[in-house]
Amino acid sequence: MRWLASLSGRQRLWLALAFVAALVIVAVGVMRQKAAGQTGPAAFTVDMSMKEIAPQLNVTGKSLARELGLPLDAPKGEPLTALGVTQEELDHVAHHLLGHRESTLKYYVFAALVLFGLVFLVRLGRPDGSPAAERRMWYPRWPYAAALIVAVALCGFALGKSPNPMEGAVKVFKSFVGLYPSVAEKLAAFLFFAVLAVVGNKLICGWACPFGALQELAFSLPMLRRLKQKKIPFVASNTARCALFIVVLLLLFGIIGGQKGLVVYHFLNPFNLFNLDIETVSIGSTIFAALALSLGAYRPFCQFISPLGFLSWLLERGSVFRVKIDRERCTNCGACIRACPLQAASGRVAGKRFPADCFSCGRCLNVCPEDAIAYGLVGRKPGVHGNRS
Ligand code: SF4
Ligand code: SF4
Repeated sequence: MRWLASLSGRQRLWLALAFVAALVIVAVGVMRQKAAGQTGPAAFTVDMSMKEIAPQLNVTGKSLARELGLPLDAPKGEPLTALGVTQEELDHVAHHLLGHRESTLKYYVFAALVLFGLVFLVRLGRPDGSPAAERRMWYPRWPYAAALIVAVALCGFALGKSPNPMEGAVKVFKSFVGLYPSVAEKLAAFLFFAVLAVVGNKLICGWACPFGALQELAFSLPMLRRLKQKKIPFVASNTARCALFIVVLLLLFGIIGGQKGLVVYHFLNPFNLFNLDIETVSIGSTIFAALALSLGAYRPFCQFISPLGFLSWLLERGSVFRVKIDRERCTNCGACIRACPLQAASGRVAGKRFPADCFSCGRCLNVCPEDAIAYGLVGRKPGVHGNRS
């Protein structure tokens, strides 16, 4: 609370404006969701054809065929019963696809959380005029923890699994092979997540993604401290994540396997947790392993598997706001490197062009004895924080 009391009048205004703006964004989301008027599930029977059912599930006939275990070129006008599909199989697939229906409101909550994270990191974390000697009270953890809890509760369990950043990255490629009716709609969703990853370095991953938030909260529990000091070599995690992404695309486009439409990420999708729908053993194992490993390792799912984790790492080069090091002040003491749960700070101190992912968690921002590290606008003269004393 000392931090809150130390904020200047200008910073309090920023805090109030950030809250009001976040509330307005969410209120607009609520109105848009009501206007979209999401319909309830229709009754589907095996006497119906894929042509009749698919539009009601917002997928293409090809996508429905794939979900039903039929070849993509199976006749779309035939009753499903003639293709050997049972009512039980159809009910299961319809339930699964209805679970993918997107909550419009969630896009707005994602945007509100990212806005709050950005304002906190850029304007509020360090009270105006506070000298470096007081750095321990800068960037307190509780506003971050509060945002993470909102992400899990609202963007996760309350609003269900879709949309989410992982599916935003995958569905755009699925639409290219004809598994969704509109490429433009999926491209727009991907661009939405890409913009939130770029406006502040990976803010969508660090501050708003519900499964990222669950891992972050698990990692924050005060246990296995020694293990947490050991960082996973970025070259290993990123190579695994990149290789998986390439294999997924090769299978999805039928370049290996010869049949288009296989989506490996489907078997590893931890966001199913938020629909309380653990469809397969592989999904249950992914969720369990990611959360158990998070007790000692930072965001293992994001580091090793997530396609948006990989793509947003590529996009980091274009971030507007991010962690910056003032090279004239930095003495390479290693304090930020020890505070960072990844090899992100070490890459930045070393001036690497492609450092490890930075999730904008803020852990490095209150440890530097030389006052050489800040979260700010890229391109602005290093060391000019705006609020440094
Ligand atoms: S804590 Fe500060 S001085 Fe030490 S390595 Fe990081 S930026 Fe440089
Ligand atoms: S501690 Fe590491 S991941 Fe967190 S903001 Fe700093 S550099 Fe980024």
